[in-house]
Amino acid sequence: MPELVFFSGTMDCGKSTLALQIEHNRSARGLVGMIFTRNDRAGEGKLSSRLGLVTDAVEVGEHADLYAHLVDHLSQGRRADYVIADEAQFLAPEQIDQLARVVDDLDLDVYAFGITTDFRSKLFPGSQRLVELADRVEVLQVEALCWCGARATHNARTVGGVMVVEGAQVVVGDVTGSPDEVGYEVLCRRHHRRRMTASTARAAALSPDVLPVSSA
Ligand SMILES: [Zn+2]
Repeated sequence: MPELVFFSGTMDCGKSTLALQIEHNRSARGLVGMIFTRNDRAGEGKLSSRLGLVTDAVEVGEHADLYAHLVDHLSQGRRADYVIADEAQFLAPEQIDQLARVVDDLDLDVYAFGITTDFRSKLFPGSQRLVELADRVEVLQVEALCWCGARATHNARTVGGVMVVEGAQVVVGDVTGSPDEVGYEVLCRRHHRRRMTASTARAAALSPDVLPVSSA
């Protein structure tokens, strides 16, 4: 039976690497995939991993109908044996419903990859819909670590190195080197709650203003 599978995890947990691995294994067996992505770090129409692998993908627009896209593709006599949707947290809930319909009505496996929660530890709408609809949810256990060494379970957004908890849900990190550069960092829950990123922890350790707590 074809399945809708949601591979979820934090940032840096190896989702895109696994997506590329699935794509590689299936194309080695002569299968053809339809690969969707949105806001990949390598730019429009790319699926890339931090390990430097990259493949072409269909960039999904905000209002794109993924089911209609596949029906159209297949009706032109072109092949699609399975579907990969990377950065699925950025898809609209309706687009996740369209992926479920691809499984049920077109009999294709759909592998969706996404970050579960945003920088405020709230579910992304696309991820929420995947949790609701998926036949299986696989939580990726690649060990992403907080700066303290604990397992990183939460995503933090930083602006100029300082963790923020307000702002738009989707802001793609930049690499401009400007002082208000938006970045992301994975943290354990404890340090996410305390808003302690690697750089604030380092600054606190070096600062003469931070005195050891007296037990007196
Ligand atoms: Zn920590």
